[in-house]
Amino acid sequence: QAYEKKKRLYELHRQTANYYYKILKTTPSAREYLSQRSISQETIREFGLGYASEDWSRLTDFLVTKGFTLTEMLDSGLVLASESKRHYDRFRDRIMFPIVNPRGQIVGFGGRLMTTGQNGPKYLNSPETPIFSKSYELYNLNHCKNFLDDGQILIVEGYMDVISLYEKGIKNTVAALGTAFTPFHGKILERYANEVIIAFDGDSAGKSATEKAMNILKKTSLNVKILNLPSNEDPDSFVQKYGQQGFLDAVAKALTIVEYELGLLKKHNDLSQTDGRLRYGNEAINVLKQLETSLEVDYYSKMVAGETGINQEVIRREVMRSKKRPD
Ligand code: ATP
Ligand code: MN
Ligand code: MN
Ligand code: MN
Repeated sequence: QAYEKKKRLYELHRQTANYYYKILKTTPSAREYLSQRSISQETIREFGLGYASEDWSRLTDFLVTKGFTLTEMLDSGLVLASESKRHYDRFRDRIMFPIVNPRGQIVGFGGRLMTTGQNGPKYLNSPETPIFSKSYELYNLNHCKNFLDDGQILIVEGYMDVISLYEKGIKNTVAALGTAFTPFHGKILERYANEVIIAFDGDSAGKSATEKAMNILKKTSLNVKILNLPSNEDPDSFVQKYGQQGFLDAVAKALTIVEYELGLLKKHNDLSQTDGRLRYGNEAINVLKQLETSLEVDYYSKMVAGETGINQEVIRREVMRSKKRPD
């Protein structure tokens, strides 16, 4: 029963995606928008991008002709009911991004306004439905799993980051869907990757999301690195500016968690002053306590010693002293 119901919802989403895709083909403004963002026809096809027209019930009307019931349409979240019981489309006048699960089923959509500041938020996603939960799904995991060179996955913030990197030949990316990265996302990535690189936007929202994701990913078996973008860039704008090689160079310079956290401490302490160096040294010891092998402890102790002038052996001993997890 529940299974049959879900099957209908997958089918409804499949037909909707085809419909949006066809509307895009015949909507010059939407095609122009994508081409201005350097998205090729091939990539549009690969991601099944579409367009939801500005009419109030074009999709609803289409789904009726395809034999879907109002209950099914409302369950999909793609159709809404007004107080006067009129039915209308959730997504109107938006570029549409189908969200595809690893089994290849379309489970929801994201939609972007072409011009922001009117008609609601820039991005709008499907709501939670029987087949879609945004704390489980990762955008592009369906493609990404086929491009895992070295078992490495890049985690980015948005649809356009994924698509723009794909366009430039960088295909091992996923995005969490608008909300925070969750422990479930961490568990899912553990199944596919050995190493993840957090590559969020360089702005302050991206930085705070980075710290949250980092703390979740620390609890997994994944090797975690952080790509620090300039504050006015996201992966999309960065790869447009510096190209594939520029982006890959930045990936190669991604920081380990400890390097990233020491970097934050350095921003808050003035290492040209004795008290700043001592405070940094003390705080750094706490950061180093999370290291798992004595090899790493030795390596970073030496680094902090060089930065502070404190003896390396003293740092190493302090780190080992109350380490939660001895190796
Ligand atoms: P673009 O380059 O098209 O402006 P972006 O991917 O850089 O898009 P951001 O504003 O950085 O967009 O947001 C990152 C991601 O967060 C989006 O792709 C979207 O999934 C989500 N998001 C952003 N704004 C909203 C919103 N108002 N409601 C829901 N999700 C949002
Ligand atoms: Mn952002
Ligand atoms: Mn962004
Ligand atoms: Mn962007």
